Amino acid sequence: MPKVYISPSVQQFNPCEYGDTEKDHCQLYADILQRYFDACGIEYKRNYNKTFQEAVAESNEWNPDIHYACHTNAYDGRTRYSVLLVYNAVMSSPAYRCAEDIKQFRAQVYPYPIYVNQNRSLYEIRYTTNPCVYDEIVFHDNVDDATLFHVRMQTFAELTARGFCEYFGIPFVFPQGVGLEPGVSDTGPLAPGMGFDMPIEATCDELKRIYADSQDELNNMREKYNMLRRDINRLLELYK
Ligand SMILES: [Zn+2]
Repeated sequence: MPKVYISPSVQQFNPCEYGDTEKDHCQLYADILQRYFDACGIEYKRNYNKTFQEAVAESNEWNPDIHYACHTNAYDGRTRYSVLLVYNAVMSSPAYRCAEDIKQFRAQVYPYPIYVNQNRSLYEIRYTTNPCVYDEIVFHDNVDDATLFHVRMQTFAELTARGFCEYFGIPFVFPQGVGLEPGVSDTGPLAPGMGFDMPIEATCDELKRIYADSQDELNNMREKYNMLRRDINRLLELYK
């Protein structure tokens, strides 16, 4: 069984434009990611409240295939990109290949540039003895990025899980009953007939229906996203 140490941010003093903190939303994202790992058969250990030094020590002792640190970024309130940091940005590096796989899938939900970059200064990258993928998923000080991450958090987690499955060469498996976590607005439970549980030999008509349904769902989500964005913009105007 592949092993991943999940190390979400514990930076509780970094405020997120969506109203919580970097720690809050990274822990929530890890909660969802775990459920996908359970379904896909990826073994994990997880940090909740330890310092990153303690998490690295625990990870090194556990000896995972990948140490996965998940964070969000901040810069000037306008910057938007996603970046996965690794010690060696070369194809011979397992962390690099894993990050590239996650990147390929993330492009389905994140419309801005996604990079895999080399970094040798961050503690978790330097001091993990196993390959470390250090994910800066979005910018939490950019209201659009923060909103997208919160509203589509389940999708972000699912696509990360798909990236790991690709990297480990194992099939992706949908978890049973993954849906809304309390406080997480997302696409809702995966209803039967939405595609994931259809037989592979679906007829053309069935595929058309699934496609139409998913377009409806997508439009609903767009509407919800735009609504939230308008609300947030209004609030920002008020607080100016
Ligand atoms: Zn947040």
